[in-house]
Amino acid sequence: MTIGYDDIVAWVRAFAADVAARKDELTALDSAIGDADHGTNLDRGMQAVVGKLDGAPTGDIGALLKSVGMTLVSTVGGAAGPLYGTLFLQLGGATTGRPELTVRDWSTALGAAVRGVQSRGKAEPGDKTMIDALQPAAEALAGSVRDGMSLGDGLRASARAAEEGMRSTIPLVARKGRASYLGERSAGHQDPGATSSHMLLEAAARTWIRETCRET
Ligand code: ADP
Ligand code: MG
Repeated sequence: MTIGYDDIVAWVRAFAADVAARKDELTALDSAIGDADHGTNLDRGMQAVVGKLDGAPTGDIGALLKSVGMTLVSTVGGAAGPLYGTLFLQLGGATTGRPELTVRDWSTALGAAVRGVQSRGKAEPGDKTMIDALQPAAEALAGSVRDGMSLGDGLRASARAAEEGMRSTIPLVARKGRASYLGERSAGHQDPGATSSHMLLEAAARTWIRETCRET
């Protein structure tokens, strides 16, 4: 069971559609502990990404993911632009020239991407950022590969870990990004970036389980 080029395109489109549908929710979360732009920022970027997806397919997953990253860097701005840009650039760097990915390839790429976001933003787990959703998701996926789980089970485990990580941000005091300016007052609110990162991994599980694992 593998993830093909068309599956990657379908995932990116699904994430863009989810961001568009839930941009007010993301912005409301950011209005509580930030500057009320996370939903509009990410939606602007993902609409630009979708606008470029209609070009001729190259079959190169890495090239596709790198171009998504470059579009996000140039259109999103703020903290999320460079961070999501880095995530996709690193995913692309780990999959250069590949027409399809195994669950092991996807896990390796996601691990590299999350490390890239961490080195770019210097956030650790527990700082109340997107890392709190991304890092456990990458770890759950790596664990599922070690345990020899199927692609479907690995994707489900990573989406579930991202959801738990997202919820774990609620009581935390922010130590990175704009929310950290609020100090203790940032506690009691779910982090917007952890929420969009959960959406990204949930979209992968939902899309790829449907497209590549129809029997599960
Ligand atoms: P901005 O904070 O510039 O307005 P956004 O509102 O689009 O940007 O994104 C805010 C999100 O970015 C936060 O919810 C958090 O998850 C994430 N974030 C901010 N700073 C960092 C960082 N240093 N490392 C990881 N994620 C971060
Ligand atoms: Mg903001």
